[in-house]
Amino acid sequence: MNNAKEFILCKYGELVLKGLNKSTFEHMMAGQMRRRLKDIGNFDIYYSQSTLYIEPKDENCDMDEAYRRAKKVFGISSLSRAIAVEKDLRAILDAAAGYLPQFLVGVRSFKVEGKRSDKRFPMTSPQLSAEIGAVILDTVPGICVDLHSPEVVINVEVREKYAFLHADAEKGACGMPGASAGKAMLLLSGGIDSPVAGFMMAKRGAELEAIYFESIPYTSEMAREKVMTLAAEICEYAGRMTVHTMNLTEIQEEIKKHADEEYFTLILRRVMMRLASRLAHTRGCNALITGESLGQVASQTMLALNVTDSVADMPVFRPCIGMDKEEIVVTARKIGTYDTSILPYEDCCTVFTPRHPRTRPSLDAVIAQEKRIENLGLLEDKAFAEKAERMIKAYN
Ligand code: ATP
Ligand code: MG
Repeated sequence: MNNAKEFILCKYGELVLKGLNKSTFEHMMAGQMRRRLKDIGNFDIYYSQSTLYIEPKDENCDMDEAYRRAKKVFGISSLSRAIAVEKDLRAILDAAAGYLPQFLVGVRSFKVEGKRSDKRFPMTSPQLSAEIGAVILDTVPGICVDLHSPEVVINVEVREKYAFLHADAEKGACGMPGASAGKAMLLLSGGIDSPVAGFMMAKRGAELEAIYFESIPYTSEMAREKVMTLAAEICEYAGRMTVHTMNLTEIQEEIKKHADEEYFTLILRRVMMRLASRLAHTRGCNALITGESLGQVASQTMLALNVTDSVADMPVFRPCIGMDKEEIVVTARKIGTYDTSILPYEDCCTVFTPRHPRTRPSLDAVIAQEKRIENLGLLEDKAFAEKAERMIKAYN
């Protein structure tokens, strides 16, 4: 088709509400998009009028993959593939005839919505819409116009540089641009909940790092690789993250030896929170993220959460706290972590699990139990000193 090429148009979500800061957020979002697409072609990525434009510069750009990736960039509420045409009625109508029918296969009704931000264009939006509607009626057999409940809405937008034609926009990833809200440390297990928690906070603009606690040889190499896979799946949205690994085997054995069984999990959870906070400080993180949901298990009652929170010296974000398991699963499936999460590898929390854990623990009692483990501080120092890290990315 002459003088016409396909773009991806991305409309902002909540960002449009930002005042003076808006351009900072736009700049971040464009930067994210450039990084996501840089290995799949030469794209020009820019923004104006609350729209992020993805313009392919040559034939080698993989537009299908670009669209798939753009759907996972936070800050974008909707996106569509659109044909960009020079702002001339003949060119627009030719493009409509050539480009739009592919979106109208088997469709019975449509309407055209016009928007004209370039007021110098010599037709009003309704006039232009009517002309395009006539072209569609001519080229798509059996279709009719339905202004009230059309199956597909065709959009024509006369903007600064081009006129754009596209069918219904799809929902984007929404949220705030990646890394616009500061860095947070995700406690990432191999379960269903913590990957969802990480995703939810990344969606609000948190830049993620992660810490995974293992218990070699009770937990395996496979369990660790599963967590790395989950991190990569979250990175489809979050971009990249460093995953830190710490070994808690000795600590768990000491807790088992000295504390009453019913306190085992609570003390372990406090160890995790202490080590995670410590790591968070050294990595410039301002919050922790966990996947707890109120009442889901004994260590997730209000009193138990108080016992774990009291060792964290920064905010602990628990975005799943008010969600049912079923809702968490729906999100896990949507973001693509569920199938990995249900792989049957052991988790360090299931090593030495008490038969009757405390559900209404008093903080004083837990602290008294914890004091029985005299070398706990030293063992934590050792686990911290021996930590490892790996950089995880979804794309190059
Ligand atoms: P998940 O599905 O995320 O594993 P869970 O329902 O199994 O959660 P718990 O085992 O009580 O819950 O753990 C609560 C939270 O503590 C987890 O969501 C996670 O954030 C963190 N956590 C638990 N185990 C680990 C681990 N081995 N490494 C890192 N974080 C962990
Ligand atoms: Mg778990």
